[in-house]
Amino acid sequence: MLVPIHEEITREALSPHFSPRALEIIIAANLKQDTWRGQIGHDEFHYDNNAIDKSNRYINEQRGYVLATLMTRGILSAWIAFGRLIHTTQDFYAHTNYISMWLSQHEDTPPPPPEIDPVQKDILHSPGLRSGKIYLPMDALYFVPFLREFSLTLLPRDSHGHMNLDSPQQGPNFAYARAAAVKRTQYEFELLQKLLIPEMFSRFVDKQTS
Ligand SMILES: [Zn+2]
Repeated sequence: MLVPIHEEITREALSPHFSPRALEIIIAANLKQDTWRGQIGHDEFHYDNNAIDKSNRYINEQRGYVLATLMTRGILSAWIAFGRLIHTTQDFYAHTNYISMWLSQHEDTPPPPPEIDPVQKDILHSPGLRSGKIYLPMDALYFVPFLREFSLTLLPRDSHGHMNLDSPQQGPNFAYARAAAVKRTQYEFELLQKLLIPEMFSRFVDKQTS
C-alpha cells in the first residue's frame, strides 16, 4: 500500500487505543518498512513474490518481540515491532489475491467493504493464495507515473503491477483491501490485548489503567 494509506489505516484502527507518543512510534516503524532498505531483499515485509509463509512467520516473530520486550520492562522495541507487524498485515490485502478470493464467494451481490472478514481461515490457508511477483525492471517502471501504462502492457498477469491494490486507482477492490487492513490491524491489537497481562498491556498502550 502507499505510505499515506498505511498511515491513515493505522490511525483509524489504533488511535483510540494508544497514547499519542506510542502511536507516532508505531506509525514511524510501519512506514519505515517501505523505504528502499525495507524493499530490497525483504519480500516478507510486504507479502511480495509469493513469500506467503515467510511473511506469516515474520508476523509471528514480530509478535514474539512485542511480548519479549514487555517482559523485560522495555517498551520502545515493542512499539517498533508492532509497527512492523501491522505493515505486513496491511500489505497482505493489497499484495495477495485474498480480496478476489473472498469476493468470489459472493459473485452476485458482494457485501459492502466494511463487511469483509479479514481472517477467513479457509482462504488464509488455501493453496490458491498467491501474491504479486516483482518482475524487474518492468515492475520498477510501474512506479514512474508516465511509464505505468507501458509497463503494464509488458508485465504478466501474476506481477505486482497487475495484482496490487495499493491505492484507489486500482479500482473497486481497493476499498475491500483498505477495509480488511483496518479490521486486521484492530484484530492484531485485540490479539495482543488477550495475550498480555494487565500490567504489560497498560505499558504497551502507554495509558494509565483506571
Ligand atoms: Zn509494504
